[in-house]
Amino acid sequence: MTTNEIENSPAKIICEACGSAMKEWNISAECALFCCPECLHIKRDREICNAQSREHAWGGDAFFDKIRILITLKRLEKKLPSKKLNVLEVGFGSGKMLASFLEKGHNVFGVEAEMLETRIDERLKNKAELYFGKIEEINLPEEKFDLIYGVHLIEHLENPALFFEKCFRSLKKGGMLYFLTPNADSAGLKVFKDKWWNLEDPTHIRFFTPRSAEIMLKSAGLQKVKTSVPLWDSLTVEVNSLMRFLKKDSEKHGVLNSKAVKLLDLFLLPFFLLLRIIYPKISPTLEIIAHKAE
Ligand SMILES: [Zn+2]
Repeated sequence: MTTNEIENSPAKIICEACGSAMKEWNISAECALFCCPECLHIKRDREICNAQSREHAWGGDAFFDKIRILITLKRLEKKLPSKKLNVLEVGFGSGKMLASFLEKGHNVFGVEAEMLETRIDERLKNKAELYFGKIEEINLPEEKFDLIYGVHLIEHLENPALFFEKCFRSLKKGGMLYFLTPNADSAGLKVFKDKWWNLEDPTHIRFFTPRSAEIMLKSAGLQKVKTSVPLWDSLTVEVNSLMRFLKKDSEKHGVLNSKAVKLLDLFLLPFFLLLRIIYPKISPTLEIIAHKAE
């Protein structure tokens, strides 16, 4: 983004991460985002950036979600102590990932706002402590969890600062926080602009950068904040973004509702994976890890 592309915003939106005045960034003739000039955090107001979003929050694909769960679990296992843990997933969806933790012998807890209207995994019934509602409104026990994680959650929250404070209080000393979320700093947003697939979800209201995530998590009391850009997450974003150039009107479930697009995603996956290896900045996701001090 160049300085010319960022214009002074009359609305005076304050960056929720660093407190700077955000500026309007016109990514297309019909779509403007708010971008923080200091930490590059992005806020989206659907009124001025509809970006042909679909009607429904759910627009993924079960097969690609499975790949994400498998890889995320492997990543987490490497970083966690090998003992029985208390694990909380916020935004557990159908609960498949949480059920995998249960099968590995951990105590599992989940919070779900039920935006996706999916059925909950049978394995969790009677064995997991599940809470339904917005995380901002749910009371969590103090110093209870070894791990709190959210997969594509924090870009949807009404009040992420309050959520991070809750996480800090609910983690045990030495406990870990783990998130995957769209990366505001991805070259994909600059290349695909309002066609970037992460804008198809109408409930994506912010995108973090490594800097904004670090600022917010440290403000909530967390330490050792590490961010990285994984190549393996949201593998269909580039193809889906291209497909959005061909799409005219918003549909309930977006471009992935089409079988042809799913097939194209599979067929072109090796090419776009190679593109991510050559040009990692195009990767759309941010992985965030933080700890509560011992
Ligand atoms: Zn900022």
